[in-house]
Amino acid sequence: MRPFTYVRVAEPAAALSAVANGASATPAIAGMQPAQYLAGGTNIVDYMKLDVMRPAELVDINALEGVYGRIEAGPKGLRLGALARMSQAEAHPAVRRDYPLISQSLQLAASPQLRNMASLSGNVLQRTRCSYFRDTSYPACNKRSPGSGCSALDGVNRTHALFGTSDRCIATYPGDFAQALAALDATVELLGPAGARVIRFEDLHLPYGESPHVETTLRPGELITGFFVPATAWTRRSLYLKVRDRRSYAYALTSAAVALELKPGREVGEARIALGGVASRPWRARAAEAALRGKRLNEAVARNAADIAFTDARPHGQNAFKVELGKRTLVRALLATAAMEV
Ligand code: SF4
Repeated sequence: MRPFTYVRVAEPAAALSAVANGASATPAIAGMQPAQYLAGGTNIVDYMKLDVMRPAELVDINALEGVYGRIEAGPKGLRLGALARMSQAEAHPAVRRDYPLISQSLQLAASPQLRNMASLSGNVLQRTRCSYFRDTSYPACNKRSPGSGCSALDGVNRTHALFGTSDRCIATYPGDFAQALAALDATVELLGPAGARVIRFEDLHLPYGESPHVETTLRPGELITGFFVPATAWTRRSLYLKVRDRRSYAYALTSAAVALELKPGREVGEARIALGGVASRPWRARAAEAALRGKRLNEAVARNAADIAFTDARPHGQNAFKVELGKRTLVRALLATAAMEV
């Protein structure tokens, strides 16, 4: 691990100025901010040890948990503070009852120890587990070293993405919670040097075009302060299904975040679907949602929606099995969601 400086702040304004000062005081390393926020540290410290991320300064924001760590459920929706821990949100009674998709997406991620440490904002900003990105002995990785190439294109790419890729990067976005936020039309609250703003969660992450090292639309120095999930007729009938190589402590090969509104005749009113483990970013499947509206859900209807969801899938050799696996995951998730007692 390289030497770095450490600053602990107690106020939001101090956090913003510490990152701004750190950024101007230290030389920029290609594609990385010289100063970075530190919350749970479960991702960034890993990558610092591997020499993949090299922030010259860490600004510890854990003392802001009193301001940005609250979980509040009300008639309009659910507000999740950015510094709430994954385990807190997962176990919150209102989240479990009214937003089961969110609780399950958190519970099926990582390990209990990591979920006790990791913040919600750190979780959505976690970086890919592409093995070439993590291993600096491979020089070609456009995400780690812009312009160097992509070792995965002709290499070991069994876990890589089918959607949102480019000829510069095919890495998979690794998170689960983010699929739940995308499916439930969440928004993200941000605070930066120019003030506060709110964006759609779906607009937070970028697909890989020319610049795979640029992963989000966050502006320099901007801090995520919270998430808001609107209360709708489909949040209670929702679930997260994750398929992986082992039953715990593994990333998704494929996953499906599903929420359904069923009318009194049990035909689908609204449907929400996001796919995990298969894309460069949280991936909403809107065409599949549209195919479900007005239909009574059975296996054939679910399979048709899954075929539509994967129409534009672009495999890269070893990951071709994910097309059929992803479809089956979505079919199972849709049928299970329709069968839920709510
Ligand atoms: Fe790097 Fe992306 Fe290629 Fe992996 S897939 S080696 S992260 S450029």
